[in-house]
Amino acid sequence: MSKISISFSLLFSFCSLFANAQTKSISKNNNSLPRPKLVVGIVVDQMRWDYLYRYHDLYSSTGGFKRLLGEGFSCENTFIPYIPTVTAAGHTCIYTGSIPAIHGIVGNSWYDNIQKKEMYCTDDSTVATVGSETVAVGKMSPRNMFATTIGDELRLATNFRSKVIAVSCKDRASILPGGHDPNGAYWYDNKTGNFVTSTYYKQTLPEWVQTFNDRKIVDSLYALNWNLAADSSQYPLYSTADSSDYEGTQIVDGKTTFPYPLSQFIGKDYGKIMFTPHANTMTTDMAIAALKGEKLGLGDVPDMLAVSYSTPDYIGHTNGPNSWEQMDDYIRLDKEIGRLLATLDAQVGKGNYTVFLSADHGAAHAARFSETHNLPGGAFSESALKNDMNEQLKNKYGFPNIIKGINEYQVTFNNDLLSRTENINREDLTNWVIRYLMARPEVASAFSFNKISQALIPEVQKERTINGYFAQRCGDIQFIPKPGYFGGSDKGTTHGAWNPYDAHIPLVWYGWGIKHGETNRETYMTDIAATVAALLHIQMPSGCIGKVIPEAFK
Ligand code: ZN
Ligand code: ZN
Repeated sequence: MSKISISFSLLFSFCSLFANAQTKSISKNNNSLPRPKLVVGIVVDQMRWDYLYRYHDLYSSTGGFKRLLGEGFSCENTFIPYIPTVTAAGHTCIYTGSIPAIHGIVGNSWYDNIQKKEMYCTDDSTVATVGSETVAVGKMSPRNMFATTIGDELRLATNFRSKVIAVSCKDRASILPGGHDPNGAYWYDNKTGNFVTSTYYKQTLPEWVQTFNDRKIVDSLYALNWNLAADSSQYPLYSTADSSDYEGTQIVDGKTTFPYPLSQFIGKDYGKIMFTPHANTMTTDMAIAALKGEKLGLGDVPDMLAVSYSTPDYIGHTNGPNSWEQMDDYIRLDKEIGRLLATLDAQVGKGNYTVFLSADHGAAHAARFSETHNLPGGAFSESALKNDMNEQLKNKYGFPNIIKGINEYQVTFNNDLLSRTENINREDLTNWVIRYLMARPEVASAFSFNKISQALIPEVQKERTINGYFAQRCGDIQFIPKPGYFGGSDKGTTHGAWNPYDAHIPLVWYGWGIKHGETNRETYMTDIAATVAALLHIQMPSGCIGKVIPEAFK
């Protein structure tokens, strides 16, 4: 080996050592702990994993998805390890690394068996709205969540010097990711078009939020109406005809086709924006306002920003995955994520921040879409099931309303009634309900939570059911629909099941400490928080059961 090549290789190993010290590993010569300046969590509400690739050719070279996939690290087989796969549980799992059986957020809402009342996941009657006159919108906090989040642990690790901010149009998609002690969590008030918070966090809005609200961005977005983002010839290549009988309508009664006139909603109807991609634009604007207003990523310790884009969920529920509306929404969301990354480059510097992008759940195909294409699946009404069971049980036992409710494929008995009378044998009733459910065409299996260990169901279903079970907040009997079947409308779609269309989500890492590549190893939603904690060298959240994904690290 010549002198030149020896010095070259020495130089090379020195450089790679140095590069390593700049990213992840600790060096004894480095006084400060190597960490990203900012962690940004991007959650897309209702993003099937396949949306990364289904619309790939339509995504922009300056957008978000191609940049994250092209430079970052993709965990291609990331699954949600519990049921129900719904928004509140998903956002909580991502930020706690935990499961409903531990963090307690078993759904968007539940019946509390001890308090004997229906609860919304972030209900808190002890606090009040800050930022608008709307009473209900701010009676919320993270108090029903029993575990800490990554943001909480980051704050603990730096003696509360790190700033943690959460932003989303949906209350639960901001409050739960923000954790118990963030510097701010903000969500959208449909009545006033303002972003609000609650007295749990602070007594007045920070000036930057007030300034943001004063701009009334929703009105300027309504003025744009909703036209197609790409050439109209592209849409039939990817989606069913613009006017399909399995689309619902939310924007203008009876209208399921482009263009959507929105300017008529200016100054009122502030909830309509949620059914248009403009709510994603508003969310990006709010996230950028938070970055600037709170000077995130500019301090001595890492900060964290949690952003959740809600619109794909609203459009998916209304129009379904194969609609022009959802396709257009994703073409535009790509640009919004690109805009957020460009702002991060400008403020924090490319390579100084770490991003993860994931989803709270996916979605099934619309029931009539499946029917049209001879795919197995369909929609059924959970309330019709409940009413029919109650009718038959009344004839059998002589009492009305023996079934209290069906929620997330869980049947809850009227346990007050059962404790008052000796005329209903609980085991008899349980067996009857299981037999009834098993005879339904849309049901694959049904079992009592009490006897789940004996249930003859595949291990994956058993594990995800147990992971989703928190006794105080769950029902008596669980049933598992056959693939493609869901409780809900035959217009649009929904989610909540264990199946891949609901539980297989994107997970892409990008930026500081992350190498380029992908893995097809099975990873889980719970691994996200564990991996962020490892990257930051902080303790995992208090209920975390996830495993670090070391393949993503440089
Ligand atoms: Zn959701
Ligand atoms: Zn949803």
